[in-house]
Amino acid sequence: MTHQDIPLSAALAATAEDRLFFDLAGIEERYASLLRELPGVTVRFAMKACPVDEVLARLAEAGAGVDAASIPEMEQAVRAGVPIGGIHYGNTVKSDRNIADAHRLGIRDFATDSLEDVAAIAEHAPGARVFCRLAIDTRGALWGLSDKYGCSTADAVTVLETARELGLTPSGLSVHVGSQQMTVEAWHSAFERLAEVLTALDGRGIALDHVNLGGGLPVPGCLDRHGRPLDPPIDKLFAAIRDGMAYLGAVGGHRLGFVVEPGRYLVAGQGAIRAHVSRLSARRGRDGRRQYWLYLSCGKFNGLYEMDELQYPLVFPTHGGPGVRRVPAVVAGPTCDSDDAYSPEHGLVQVPEALASGDPVWVLSCGAYATSYMTQGFNGFGPLPYTCVDGGGAGGAGKARGG
Ligand SMILES: *Cc1c(COP(=O)(O)O)cnc(C)c1O
Repeated sequence: MTHQDIPLSAALAATAEDRLFFDLAGIEERYASLLRELPGVTVRFAMKACPVDEVLARLAEAGAGVDAASIPEMEQAVRAGVPIGGIHYGNTVKSDRNIADAHRLGIRDFATDSLEDVAAIAEHAPGARVFCRLAIDTRGALWGLSDKYGCSTADAVTVLETARELGLTPSGLSVHVGSQQMTVEAWHSAFERLAEVLTALDGRGIALDHVNLGGGLPVPGCLDRHGRPLDPPIDKLFAAIRDGMAYLGAVGGHRLGFVVEPGRYLVAGQGAIRAHVSRLSARRGRDGRRQYWLYLSCGKFNGLYEMDELQYPLVFPTHGGPGVRRVPAVVAGPTCDSDDAYSPEHGLVQVPEALASGDPVWVLSCGAYATSYMTQGFNGFGPLPYTCVDGGGAGGAGKARGG
């Protein structure tokens, strides 16, 4: 891999300060590729993956809506130009006040998964449309979002029947297979669950108008925490999803449209960080063994929140070439939290032995969940500022933002 092949490399090379970059043209291309893979679906970007105004605006221009989890997210999406009808309240966790505020904003589609929540929606957002989140098997995902949300197939029927009795419109069902879901089996089992509920609802005279397939689409680029390349079978996954949509389309009297809520898929590969080496040091630990540690200027609390499960590709632009001597190191962030590091038991990273304090480091494929999971300055390490570029270069279109 040469530097020219790395998206954003021109922008990364052109800065002398730590900064996060997003490639807007790249994100737009991911959106277009998703629509090619899943023709006819409605895309609602899970904005928690990258709540950046420019990103939201670019996706909105391209036609995407937003999956929002809170009032501030909805307000930000509206400010960025997302039409209110393209935003749904995708969080099953919400207070009475949250529901009333969303209703006042003009939100008409609400996720739900319990009788308590449905009753609250009926009271505070009368006449709203509700879709019920199903609890499904999320094995095969790097982050399963399994137990906190969703109800059983039997309860989903009761929830949607109750919604109808309370004057709401039972409009859909939703699932989330877990983030970075690597297996087709998870999708097969999700579609089975969905078909079960659709059949049961059909028997009760409830016809839905959509199924929300959630997020979870995986991306290549990073290694898992054992240092193995993540190479998701993306073509097979899309084929399973297309088959599943066709299968559900034939169940009962529903006339189903499909919504997807990608987060990671749209942005992960389109973000990169310019960081620097704090120190490469070799220490003897408790076990008396000498271990190299590469401390970076950014880590779990300022850009690399997912370093518990992921190893990001690192580029050392001032230490290129095949002759470079490398040593195996644990990569860690700058704070005094021991979680701010790759697990030393898992794969070590080969890094140039001659790395010096201040040398630039490029962290690739870190566009998802980078800005949203940055702390305000844990240990005094502030959030990274970001710049959006258009087309991978350092281009003039990028707008600098303070952190
Ligand atoms: C986080 C989330 C998503 C996005 O998940 P990805 O794995 O990033 O695609 C979609 N839908 C809901 C409800 C979520 O909570």
